[in-house]
Amino acid sequence: MRILITNDDGVHSEGIRVLTEAVRGMGETVVMAPAMEQSASSHSITLRDPLLVDRLARNVYSVDGTPTDCVVLSLNGVIGARPDLVVSGVNHGANMGDDVTYSGTVAAAIEAVLYGVPAIAFSVAALEGLLFEAPSRMIRPIVERMIARPRNPKTIWNVNFPNIPFGEVRGIRVTRLGTRFYENSVVEEAPRDGGKVFRIGGGKPTWKREPETDFQAVFDRYVSITPILLDLNDYESILTMREWEWSREGGVK
Ligand code: MN
Repeated sequence: MRILITNDDGVHSEGIRVLTEAVRGMGETVVMAPAMEQSASSHSITLRDPLLVDRLARNVYSVDGTPTDCVVLSLNGVIGARPDLVVSGVNHGANMGDDVTYSGTVAAAIEAVLYGVPAIAFSVAALEGLLFEAPSRMIRPIVERMIARPRNPKTIWNVNFPNIPFGEVRGIRVTRLGTRFYENSVVEEAPRDGGKVFRIGGGKPTWKREPETDFQAVFDRYVSITPILLDLNDYESILTMREWEWSREGGVK
């Protein structure tokens, strides 16, 4: 088995080192990750510029692009045989609820399943003082479990670890994505060059207390695994809207 390891925090982050160690020995591992941090790059792909691939060590490469770029290059065979599995992370910061739509970590996994390659995204739910003991010990069994079980090939696993010592982890919960709110997430700063200046992300995020969500599991000191599908279809609306009468101009008859 050939395993591609990538992330959005950059090839030099501690999290990707932890992930690489955790899957070592499960197959041939290749690291291909952004040269610089690309957090919140979502599913962005670089089309207008060439991409520089640097070989940093044996089976370790950096790309001056996004996590999705790394997966596209690797799955197109630029660093040898196409991987059989893609693991992404370990992200410094949670990727739960609505935030997965911003996540470069999760987008890398999404890109992999678009190519039919199974993928798992890993994150630790903290921005400072990250504890990697639980990911170090739990990633391998989680990956082994994924590849051992029959599953929808289009499903990615989005795994979030609470930032607590391994001994305090109460177990694993299979969850759904929750809902979060950012209070005062846009902050105004001093005007510059005659224009108003704002910064996004200044507020304190909170989340809705709902059972069986990723937020609730991590809050309850469980590792959260959320199976995710990239299927943006709203099947209910498709059925409802087909019942409407549509004139040639699109308006209501
Ligand atoms: Mn990140």
